Amino acid sequence: MNATEKAERLKLAVQKSGRLTDNSLELLKNCGLKLSRGRDQLMGFGENMPLDVLFVRDDDIPDLVQEDVCDLGLVGRNVLEEKRLEMIAKGHKPSFTELRTLEYGRCRLALAIPDGFNYEGARSLAGKRIATSYPFTLENWLRERGVSADIVTLSGAVEIAPRLGRADLICDLVSTGSTLQANHLREVETILESQALLIRTPVELPEGKQEWVDRLLMRIDGVQQVRESKYIMLHAPRSALPEIRRLLPGSESPTIIPLEGSGDRVAIHAVCRENVFWETLESLKKAGASALLVLPVEKMLA
Ligand code: ATP
Ligand code: ZN
Repeated sequence: MNATEKAERLKLAVQKSGRLTDNSLELLKNCGLKLSRGRDQLMGFGENMPLDVLFVRDDDIPDLVQEDVCDLGLVGRNVLEEKRLEMIAKGHKPSFTELRTLEYGRCRLALAIPDGFNYEGARSLAGKRIATSYPFTLENWLRERGVSADIVTLSGAVEIAPRLGRADLICDLVSTGSTLQANHLREVETILESQALLIRTPVELPEGKQEWVDRLLMRIDGVQQVRESKYIMLHAPRSALPEIRRLLPGSESPTIIPLEGSGDRVAIHAVCRENVFWETLESLKKAGASALLVLPVEKMLA
């Protein structure tokens, strides 16, 4: 590989090992990327696209992208927002560009109280000690509510802080709530809803790289769409068409095919951009449909 070819390769930052790693790699795989690497290695090289992956801690991803070390990054909104507020607090100007919100990494930053804490809204937090790994996001939330509390910044094991007497309550990431439950904590407020994001460098990319970013985005959109999409086939009398079209979830223009030898009946094929549930099939049947078939969609390119 010569120097220009190397410069033309996109560099994407991905969490090395953690909750975002598998989903991020799966997304790239679904976009057609073949990576050669061992998981313990720092870099993965795209074999069939000019895109290489840099494996790092998720907390480093916003800086790597903002400082143009990487062109792209996959990171949680929680981490990005904390970084953004930290920069503002320190007098810097953040310039993150979000390209897409992705379907994975869903969690929320939430306040949770131990048994015996009497919570009656943000006012109850005045003067309390709150343990968190997200001091800037929490600070911002408290400020917006005019409440002053004591933020105890911890880098991990936030959920045991109340038991250790280090804090009165916590502000931590939650997805199912089972960790909170195990620690006798009860969620009382959502501070931030989070999902994984694709972010890009603030610096303009050379044409060749930008083209690949655009292609990647188109593929990501396709991947995200097919996840929910279904191909539905059914037979129905022509007279039932308006009602059936109304019932088909998120489909634009179904294909209508006459059925050989069955007079008024037609076959209807449609791509539904939402999941098709049993209730929908039952309603379609009631409207006159028969021979209903629902198939998964593998790829889609608008
Ligand atoms: P690293 O070593 O890369 O710093 P970490 O321990 O900070 O890893 P993980 O626990 O792997 O991070 O979480 C990575 C990201 O996954 C979080 O920042 C968040 O965006 C997302 N996430 C999704 N669900 C959860 C959850 N239940 N708890 C924590 N993070 C979650
Ligand atoms: Zn981290």
